[in-house]
Amino acid sequence: MSKKEFICPVCGYDRLPEPPHDEQGCPTYVICPCCGFEFGFDDDSEGHTYSTYRQHWIDQGFPFFNAKKRPANWNIRTMKRQLENTENGNLHN
Ligand SMILES: [Zn+2]
Repeated sequence: MSKKEFICPVCGYDRLPEPPHDEQGCPTYVICPCCGFEFGFDDDSEGHTYSTYRQHWIDQGFPFFNAKKRPANWNIRTMKRQLENTENGNLHN
């Protein structure tokens, strides 16, 4: 296993370094570089669902969580395209 990357089910970012959950279904506590969601914490401990967290993140202006990983051309179009990777890739507004 070398350079496999995964899709964040919250924001659709497709370069998650680890899957949100392992083969046993346990959270990996990976933090999405894009939306900042921590799998196993923000959902299990904080009670966020992917869709409420997603909406909150969008309402905040979808800040890119890890500035070092932020693509140079990151913008609202990139974000909307990414959202199509999620299970409900439409904006509620
Ligand atoms: Zn994300």
